Amino acid sequence: MAEDASSTDSTIPTHTKAWYYSQHGRPADVLKFDPNWPLPQLKDDQVLIKVIAVSLNPVDYKRIHGEFKDTDSYLPVVPGFDVAGIVVKMGGEVRKFKVGDEVYGDINGEGLSNLKILGTLSEYTVAEEKLLAHKPSNLSFIEAASIPLACETALEGFEHAQFSAGKSILVLGGAGGVGSYAIQLAKHVYKASKIAATASTGKLELLREIGVDFPIDYTKYNFEDLPEKYDLVYDAVGQADRALKAIKEGGKVVTIVPPGYPPAIFFGLTSKGSNLEKLRPYFESGQVKPILDAKTPLPFSQLIEAISYLETSRATGKVVVYPI
Ligand code: NDP
Repeated sequence: MAEDASSTDSTIPTHTKAWYYSQHGRPADVLKFDPNWPLPQLKDDQVLIKVIAVSLNPVDYKRIHGEFKDTDSYLPVVPGFDVAGIVVKMGGEVRKFKVGDEVYGDINGEGLSNLKILGTLSEYTVAEEKLLAHKPSNLSFIEAASIPLACETALEGFEHAQFSAGKSILVLGGAGGVGSYAIQLAKHVYKASKIAATASTGKLELLREIGVDFPIDYTKYNFEDLPEKYDLVYDAVGQADRALKAIKEGGKVVTIVPPGYPPAIFFGLTSKGSNLEKLRPYFESGQVKPILDAKTPLPFSQLIEAISYLETSRATGKVVVYPI
């Protein structure tokens, strides 16, 4: 008995519209649309979500390229990690949510293991309740969808580094999805003493607006050659070797881009609804704000344009697909 009484509701679909790929390659070449993708049976700890908005992450296109194919699920796959939507059906052991709740989260739990075949780029999707949280009431679905994977990654990086109040930080890639949240968490959650970050010339003003004291134009300066050194360098670009030259004695480098060899600390995100709940006060007070790219949102029909844009690595903040 895996589902509650709402499973008999005739309005609950058995199939969904979804984007999928059945071979690896460039998203523009391999993504296809299926108006009738079968929905899986709900497990006891899962909810069925009517998807309202989805933010894209580099892991989406990297997965479509086949970068994780040795450990990934079999094809065809519906991509998508992040979701904001409404619970329409619950598994029998779900306690945290009820039908009609507005939820958000990253639906893949442990980094790149056991990735779901049905992702979030679908009109309906399925996720374990522990991966989800209630959507902050002041945020739109578009804003909420931009948070989970990027912001949880930012938070987990600080936890791995044991970062604490009064320490200084340099964020590499400050204008990206993860970097823009890392800066804001450093300022408002961790009370960093000084925040520096790198971006190209046109994005330095944004860095200042979100809390950076010392924006560094990477088109003009090599950050590791500057005299200032930091307690932590948070590398969201893939520059861990250079980052090690920018830390104080006893300082740390956290990197989210492989390979990130020691002494840099590399980690893969573990998605947790509880981390989103922990950050809720910072969203609801408006201290930590979703930064959305100017092209956002793009409609579901323009997924290929949206993901191809993210692939350029020039997006500012997050790219969100809406409405689904
Ligand atoms: P984004 O696509 O959002 O990053 C785009 C941003 O990166 C742009 O604003 C761009 O700014 C900036 N950027 C690109 N090159 C540089 C550079 N040399 N120096 C400074 N900024 C630069 O990516 P995300 O932030 O979502 O992810 C970043 C990386 O982290 C990806 O490789 C992703 O796969 C990885 N990741 C890993 C996770 C993990 O669990 N290990 C989790 C999440 C992400 P500009 O135009 O100014 O160059």
